[in-house]
Amino acid sequence: MSQQDGAPDHISGLNVSGLYVNPAGQRRGAFQEACAGLFGQLRVADSAQQAAALLAREPAGLLVLDLERFELGLDLAALGELVAARGGAAVFVLCPFTTARWLPSLMAFGPIDYAIGPLDAPALRAALAQRLARGFTPPAPPAPRESELGVLLAVRSASQRALEESDDSLRFAERLCEALASWPGVIHAAMFHLRDGDLHLEAEQGVPTLHLAPLLLRGDTLLHSPLRHAFPGLLAAASGEFILLDALDKAGEPELAARLRGHGAQMVVGLPIPAQGPGAPRGSLCLLFGQARSFSQAELEAFEDLARLAAFGLRMAEMGRENEALLGKVTHLATTDALTGVANRRHGEALLEQEIKRARRYRLPLALIGFDIDRFSNINDTYGHPVGDVALRTVADTAKALLRSSDVLVRSGGEEFLVIAPHTSAIDGLKMAEKLRAAIGQAEIPGCDHVTVSLGVAQLGETESGDSLAVRVNAALARAKRAGRNCVELAMQ
Ligand code: GH3
Ligand code: MG
Ligand code: MG
Repeated sequence: MSQQDGAPDHISGLNVSGLYVNPAGQRRGAFQEACAGLFGQLRVADSAQQAAALLAREPAGLLVLDLERFELGLDLAALGELVAARGGAAVFVLCPFTTARWLPSLMAFGPIDYAIGPLDAPALRAALAQRLARGFTPPAPPAPRESELGVLLAVRSASQRALEESDDSLRFAERLCEALASWPGVIHAAMFHLRDGDLHLEAEQGVPTLHLAPLLLRGDTLLHSPLRHAFPGLLAAASGEFILLDALDKAGEPELAARLRGHGAQMVVGLPIPAQGPGAPRGSLCLLFGQARSFSQAELEAFEDLARLAAFGLRMAEMGRENEALLGKVTHLATTDALTGVANRRHGEALLEQEIKRARRYRLPLALIGFDIDRFSNINDTYGHPVGDVALRTVADTAKALLRSSDVLVRSGGEEFLVIAPHTSAIDGLKMAEKLRAAIGQAEIPGCDHVTVSLGVAQLGETESGDSLAVRVNAALARAKRAGRNCVELAMQ
């Protein structure tokens, strides 16, 4: 029978001529054995090209494309052409549940029906009989129903709003799952995210009693759970494939299937969240449906869209984190002295202003201590500059170890330092300076002699500026130098 010139609306299965396409001889044999009886005539082809040649010779009523063993990357174009130039045949696609991304790709070439595999012989026969019984109304592309489009748009715009939270990947995942859970028929939505070498269940929304993690974690990590070959959410994230498990038993994990059914799920979809460029996906979106159903091209494309949106949101969150880290590094570089790791002069000046304001506001004393290494040029001249650097680091480390966490050590110049000491009077400042002098004088410096320091101490006056305080400290320090070095002088008021 042929549909060449105006196919009748309904054809009883027995009169239909079928053409089955699959590259594996064994599968073609098995199909013929299981299903030949359903057709008036059944031909088989091992490739899209052979099928096209057979169709050119004599058209068929039903073209059955069995995608098992085909490769999307290599065979899509040829199979798509076959779908486009079907010569009036209806197209029925048998698609393994692990590679459902074939479906939207083929739908782009023309209308198709599909059944999700694996199907055993009786299930295959039943699926075909059902398809044949539905008859062959001319294959007008099914226009998406308006109500369907409305819902898709609503889910999509809710998902886009989730991007507003993309400075926080967890919150973004929650919002996206909320949006996905409003997809018609979806009872539960989850996002898996691949980070730090493992898959994490970032968020889930829907059935309140259903928690996927304990259901799936059958090992140390989700990524290595033995269920990663069976559960669409894990499988999609691990393989990068769109997984459409329209009957839970097809995955071959009866216990998991039973548990999911216990929560009201009948079908699970896993959408890989694509990586930027080549590489493993970033994770997956996982949707649990209360009923098995087939999807239109618009819905399948909307799935891909949402997965891309999820990828974008996760990338934005990642960039936010990277920016923060970068800003932290830049701030550190701009405020820290590279040799000693203490605050640099510019940062020290800002910190002194801050502490002066605080001291005024709370009427607390503030002391500033300045110190300078004695005869430091001799160290450089005698032992060399690198040893001088080590001495500078040792002096800074020794001082830091003595100070309280609220004190700030600043390298104010070559071999000159300042200590900003909040909550410290002149007397306490003197004691502190004396401790610094003693500790630095005793510090062991690898590769050279001990060094000593001279110090000046001042307490902030009631209305005094930071500059004036620094001038008084320096004057006291100069007096300490004149007094013979390795000693402490208190500044004049
Ligand atoms: P005084 O007791 O009067 O302070 O004598 P001084 O020799 O310490 O004083 P002077 O200001 O003459 O010399 C300071 C020396 O510190 C000169 C300079 O080369 C050295 N210096 C400054 N910055 C660094 C540095 O980053 N590394 C090293 N190794 N030396 C430095
Ligand atoms: Mg010096
Ligand atoms: Mg100096």
